[in-house]
Amino acid sequence: MVETEVNVEGKAKRGLGLSALSPRVVQSEIRAMTMECDIVGGVNLAQGVCDTEVPAVVMEAAKTAMDEGHNIYTRMDGIARLRRAIAEKTERMQSIVVDPEREVVVTSGATGAFHAVALALFDAGDEVLIFEPFYGYHVGTLRTLHVTAVAVELDAAANWALDIEKVKAAITPKTKAILVNTPSNPAGKVFTLAELEALAEIAKEHDLFVLTDEIYEHFVYGEAKHISMAALPGMRERTIIMSGYSKTFSVTGWRIGYIIADAKWIPAIAYFSDLLYVCAPAPFQHGVAAGIEKLGKTFYAGLAMEHEVKREMIVSALRDAGFDPYVPDGAYYVLASMKGLGDVLEGENAAQKSRSLLRKTGVAAVAGSAFFRAGRGEDLLRFCYAKKDDDLEEACRRLRSLT
Ligand code: PLP
Repeated sequence: MVETEVNVEGKAKRGLGLSALSPRVVQSEIRAMTMECDIVGGVNLAQGVCDTEVPAVVMEAAKTAMDEGHNIYTRMDGIARLRRAIAEKTERMQSIVVDPEREVVVTSGATGAFHAVALALFDAGDEVLIFEPFYGYHVGTLRTLHVTAVAVELDAAANWALDIEKVKAAITPKTKAILVNTPSNPAGKVFTLAELEALAEIAKEHDLFVLTDEIYEHFVYGEAKHISMAALPGMRERTIIMSGYSKTFSVTGWRIGYIIADAKWIPAIAYFSDLLYVCAPAPFQHGVAAGIEKLGKTFYAGLAMEHEVKREMIVSALRDAGFDPYVPDGAYYVLASMKGLGDVLEGENAAQKSRSLLRKTGVAAVAGSAFFRAGRGEDLLRFCYAKKDDDLEEACRRLRSLT
């Protein structure tokens, strides 16, 4: 689980005495809820751990790789087989032509990808536009590099639509990039072609990078379609794709992610990925490569279908319980408004209300405020539905007992 709150100050303070040497890390609301959930033996819909099955082909290939001695450092940009598999699937699924020798870096998850990219492309004082509600790690990573995350709010009432005028208004001479997380955590927003085109125009006009976090690319429902910014005309050179297999193959602990970018950005990005992580775990690179090679359309369609069913389960339970859920088009989280609940949940803010929900039902969710600037998101909770069916059914049953 790699989510955290935004109020993290991960810097050790020097020269202030021994106790001040430890990082002042405020415990993440998500981790806090997980601990509190464990204490009461509840069902944890707070963390996005996705505890669904790892595909057998992926598992077996990783075990075989270990047995065959693939247990040492790999090239800093990853094994050739995995880079080739990533390039081929990107061309097959997104029509983006990728050179596996010069345009791919295998990283320590999408998290490691973003850290390496941010180190390579940004200087302290630069600004990066992000969309609110946002993923806390994006903000935390930028903050530790003294890069300013400038939040542009999405319109909750209009299915999290993008207001392009707000994006234009947020641009300053210090803006270096726009970060697009599609499908998004926590809103499940899937950026439309029109929205991506409008952002592309702005990126070209102001000479900005576009960083895309596409970790949920295969979790898309209904009419929504995942489009990578890099596939848009004239955008390949300035787009840095960041993605990975934590979610697709349910291997969040394996740490296999990747970057696709124009060859001219790769040496700097690979340098920082090497400096931070040296390489991604060798046997798991083989496991993921085998999965990409061998799993076809049916696997990805099945994944989306399975999670769409889970989405229906949680949305209907939340409605029955008196919440007003924002039905997500992608990823596997649902933000739900507590406004209609009146005073069923006790507390002044979302963090207190999430604890009240845990006390009353034994279901853990995350305070919406973890995904917004201070003072916002207080009427929302986020529920993760990437759970085994039995656990999700139990959570739904408990939620329905609320009212
Ligand atoms: N990006 C987003 C938007 C996420 O929600 C997550 C995990 O919750 C990650 C990245 C982490 O991906 P990885 O496990 O590949 O580091």
